This record gives sequence, C-alpha cells and structure tokens, in this order.
Amino acid sequence: MKKIAIIGAGISGLFFANMIEKNKSFSYRIFEMKSSIDFNDGYGIQLSVNSIKLLNKIGFNKFSNNQLYFPKKVNFLNAKDSKKICDINLSKFNYENNNYTTMKRSSLIKFLLDQIPKDKLAFNYKVNDIKQGDKVSLIFSNKKTDEFDYLVAADGIYSKTKEILFKEEGLPEYFNTIALRGNIRNFDNFDISLYLGPNFHFVIYPINQKKEFNFIAIIRKELFKKEIINNDLLNDNTFKNDLLKKISSKSNLNLIENVEKTKCFPIFVSKKFQIPKSNNIFLTGDAFYSFPPSFAQGASQSIESANELFCDLRNNTSDYYKNRVFRTKQINIRSNFNHFAFHLSNPLNIFFRNISLKYLSKNRKFLENYLGKVYRN
Ligand SMILES: Cc1cc2nc3c(=O)[nH]c(=O)nc-3n(C[C@H](O)[C@H](O)[C@H](O)COP(=O)(O)OP(=O)(O)OC[C@H]3O[C@@H](n4cnc5c(N)ncnc54)[C@H](O)[C@@H]3O)c2cc1C
Repeated sequence: MKKIAIIGAGISGLFFANMIEKNKSFSYRIFEMKSSIDFNDGYGIQLSVNSIKLLNKIGFNKFSNNQLYFPKKVNFLNAKDSKKICDINLSKFNYENNNYTTMKRSSLIKFLLDQIPKDKLAFNYKVNDIKQGDKVSLIFSNKKTDEFDYLVAADGIYSKTKEILFKEEGLPEYFNTIALRGNIRNFDNFDISLYLGPNFHFVIYPINQKKEFNFIAIIRKELFKKEIINNDLLNDNTFKNDLLKKISSKSNLNLIENVEKTKCFPIFVSKKFQIPKSNNIFLTGDAFYSFPPSFAQGASQSIESANELFCDLRNNTSDYYKNRVFRTKQINIRSNFNHFAFHLSNPLNIFFRNISLKYLSKNRKFLENYLGKVYRN
C-alpha cells in the first residue's frame, strides 16, 4: 500500500485524510506543527454547495443541525445607512441534501477530526526540509525524519513546502488588506448581510441555530513589511479598535459596542500557480493557491482540491494540476472582481455599481454563469 504524508491538519489536509479513511486505499500520517487544535474560536465559515456535496460523502449530512445554519440569501446593503441595494437567492443553487451552509470553523474541524484515528495525527511536527526523489523524505524541526511515496502539502497560505520548493517565488504577497474578525451581538437578520463601504466591506451571518453571528470585515490598508510581520501590532487592542472605529464611523450599525472578541490579521494571496517538478509532491488548499476572501471560496476550494487529488491518486491518473489550474482561474477572477466592486469609493462609481448589482442579482443567465458554474461544479 502506498504511503502518504499529509502536511497540515487544516481543512484541506483533514478532508484528504477523511477520503482515505473512507476508501482505505493508502496508508497515511498527518503532520501538524501546532501542539494541539484550538476548538475555542467561535469564528464562522461559509460553505457553498460544491463543498457541502463533498462533505456529505464523508457523513456531514448526519452532523447535528443545530450547529449549522442554512442562509437562504445574501443581502447587499450600503454600510452608511443599512439601506438594501439588492439580494441574491442562494437557496436556488441548493439541491438534494446539499445546502449553502454557515457554521463555526471549529465545528467543521472537529467533525473532520472525529473520523480520523488519533495515531494518524502527529502534533509538534513542523516540516523543515524535503528531499525529493522516487520517495519523498521529510525532515522535521524536532529532528525526526520519515520517507513516503507521496507528499500532500496542505500547510496553508504560508506553506513551508512551497517555500522549500520554489524559494522566494513560493511566498505569498500582502494584498493591502486587513481582516478583522469577531462575533456580533444584537443582530437579527438571519440571511448573509454584506455591507459595502468605501475601501471596506463587512459580512455578518449566523453560525448556528443559537442566534450567534459571525462578523468579518475586509479593510483596505497599506502596511510596511515590518508592520505586517509585527504580531504585537496586529494583536494590539488600540490598532484593532481604531480599525473598528474607522468602519463604524462609516456605518449606522453600532459596531464598537456590538462586535466582540476581535482578531486581526493581514490578508496574503498567492502570486501565481506553482507546480512542483516531482510527480509525487502535491499542493492542496491555500498551499496551492490562496484567493482574496471576497467570494468565500477558500475553504470550499480546500475541500475540492483535496477531493480532486484523492481521486487522481486513487485512479492513477495525472489530471490534478490541469483541472486545479482551470478551477483556480475561475474562482480567482470572481474573487478579485468582487473585491474591486465591493470596495469602490468614488460616489459616481458606487452609483453605477449599485444599479448593476440590482440588475445582475436578478439576471438568471448571469447568476448561472457567475455562481452556478462555481457552486454546481
Ligand atoms: C478573513 C478570511 C475569511 C475567510 N472566510 C472564509 C469563508 O467564509 N468561507 C470559505 O470558504 N473560506 C474562507 N476563508 C478561507 C479559508 O479559511 C482558507 O482558504 C482555508 O482555511 C484553507 O485551508 P487549508 O487547509 O488549505 O489551510 P489551513 O486551514 O491554513 O491549514 C494549514 C495547516 O497547516 C499547518 N502547518 C503550516 N505550516 C506547517 C509546517 N511547516 N509543518 C506542519 N504543519 C504546518 C497549520 O498549522 C495549519 O493547521 C477565509 C479566509 C480569510 C483570510
């Protein structure tokens, strides 16, 4: 039986391991650099039907419904006055048991972990070096080494594997944007609410049936390199509060009082596609490509890519990268376009954007092409 090393116990690595567990087609081990998985974070995640379909293959449809929410539509609103611009009906892309879903990220990770035997996951294993050949040898920071037939690098946006393979070219770039996450109280709209402001947008959505809501703001912000890598700055309460004050002053929601447990981090995106020369090394999820977070497809693509790779290895085909590049281009164009349109600041451009949004959100052909092609893959 071929032996696979999975680097990273994030969404992609864990989904890949679940596929192996279900099919028992390979032996494997997951190597995670952290010492444990944090289940305390209450932040949310959106999963569109393309990934729900794949999650259902590994039993997600039996997951407790009160830890999930199934929003029916996304409302576009002006941040300044909360006036609705338009809405898109997401539920019309649902089919069979596959529904657009929002939930706590930690609940998803817990579900993925529950199906993996404990001895398959090694904590405190940070991959430090890779020797390529007929077999792949891994060297970890705890000085241990091991050899595998395949390497599946699911080590996220700051992928060490990619850095080892592609040096500088493998590093992501700062997207001149900061994400501010939190939980929001006193909110009572159970759709996905997408508020558009000048140079920022924020999204609020329920994360379960207990009236708990996720808040995520994406704010344009140029930073110097040393500021980006300065964790103290990003964890600093004054820095986070200033960001919240800035968007709160351009919105009629009282964000300062209602958003709590904020966490701030810089958004990095991939520079370009990178395909390893060795035919036994594969990149999945954010390690393969990380998108701007304006199309909410990161987690779904992490799941999709893991599924495609698993099928490719099981069927002994070599279509993974060809298909992934095509799919990634499709998502990346939409993510960048959304980001651009959501952050317009010139009033005239905003006026025309809102007219276009009203028209396009009700245009069946456009929606089929823009969302249907992604959601019904
Ligand atoms: C602000 C923001 C909001 C988002 N919202 C959404 C959303 O609503 N919907 C959505 O679909 N997506 C969303 N995403 C994207 C989504 O979170 C990511 O795309 C997804 O988590 C990537 O999964 P992954 O498994 O590839 O990587 P990760 O989840 O980052 O996991 C990588 C794992 O690898 C480990 N690791 C890293 N380096 C090493 C090493 N050298 N050795 C061993 N282990 C290592 C890490 O500790 C980690 O556990 C959002 C992203 C951002 C930034």
